[in-house]
Amino acid sequence: MTEVQEQVIPFHSADVGEQEAQAAADVVRSGWLTMGAKTIEFEQKFASYVGAKHAVGVNSCTAGLHLALDAIGLREGDEVLVPTTTFTASAEVVVYFKAKPVLVDIDPETLCIDPIDAERRITSKTRAIIPVHFSGQPCDMDAIRDLATRYNLRVIEDAAHSLPASYRGVPVGAISELTAFSFYATKTLTTGEGGMVTTDNEDLANRMRIMRLHGIGRDAWKRYSAEGSWYYEVLDSGFKYNLTDIQSAIGLVQLDKCDEMRIARERIARLYSKEFATEPSLQVPTVRSECDSSWHLYVLRLNLEQLSITRSEMIEKLRGRGIGCSVHFIPLHMHPFYKQTYGYSADNFPVATQEYARYFSLPIFPTMSSTQIDYVIENVVDILKSSAR
Ligand SMILES: *Cc1c(COP(=O)(O)O)cnc(C)c1O
Repeated sequence: MTEVQEQVIPFHSADVGEQEAQAAADVVRSGWLTMGAKTIEFEQKFASYVGAKHAVGVNSCTAGLHLALDAIGLREGDEVLVPTTTFTASAEVVVYFKAKPVLVDIDPETLCIDPIDAERRITSKTRAIIPVHFSGQPCDMDAIRDLATRYNLRVIEDAAHSLPASYRGVPVGAISELTAFSFYATKTLTTGEGGMVTTDNEDLANRMRIMRLHGIGRDAWKRYSAEGSWYYEVLDSGFKYNLTDIQSAIGLVQLDKCDEMRIARERIARLYSKEFATEPSLQVPTVRSECDSSWHLYVLRLNLEQLSITRSEMIEKLRGRGIGCSVHFIPLHMHPFYKQTYGYSADNFPVATQEYARYFSLPIFPTMSSTQIDYVIENVVDILKSSAR
């Protein structure tokens, strides 16, 4: 424990380097800085990587979710099912339409949306469901597809955590009608900021391509290029959500090493779980047999009744030893906005509320060294030993 005491292990560190820097520099030197050929190339390679017909590059996953909801024609007064254990982006996009995010409790094993609780909350106004593949493990998509069929719901996957991941052998991105990915700085593929929406539906793809660039007719960006014309038509009041060629050039490098980075994270998860599974005061994350996880997060749970410390105290102790941790997520029903606007309270979400008190996320990034992994394991175990009840 003492040999590397002075080291600081951040919660996350992006696996980016000279190749990404070179790719970005090449774009800058080309003189074409916004959306153009690199973005088209990134979209095509991304689509084929996940096995979707279309991929639409956007400047965030939040933007992608917004465009997806616009593309399905979400309206004021509609309701959309969203798990409470997620980042606010998954639900705020529903609020953009003056529609209602109907929060849903989670499955205690996977911490993903609970399809049984989702069904209980369906009303005549429910139009869609946004499953979030929490930590990188796909949701119970058979049950969600079944719900969608029986109640005529559209499915928009929030895949911010789950590149690459798969369900029954099908990659996330090719499962549902619409899937939104995030390339934010901490995500499994990063362009700093960025995102992608995949779909097999050409009409939805076209609508999103138009709306991501001011509602201007297709390929509007070309008007700045040699082959483009000065003429364009505004077809709707759209948004400014396009992905730039600088971001896409970085994304192309990241996509090439996406599988390698996943293998590195999975290895860390295995090493963690091998040691932690035998600790009675811990519950380690599991992956269902029908799923492959991207291992975006390693979420550990404390069996609090065996310990004299809380989850927050655990995080503080780890921080004191130079280990960065985080919490995913503070459930949405506990935030002032969702409580005050929709009247949600803790007893509406017993599982999410209970699990929130005991989970935290450990560092799991591809460039973690063996020394760092060992240091995290030793310190978690050591703190538990001195905190046994
Ligand atoms: C990060 C995240 C988002 C938002 O992604 P951005 O690209 O930052 O917009 C959405 N949903 C979940 C679950 C996330 O973790």
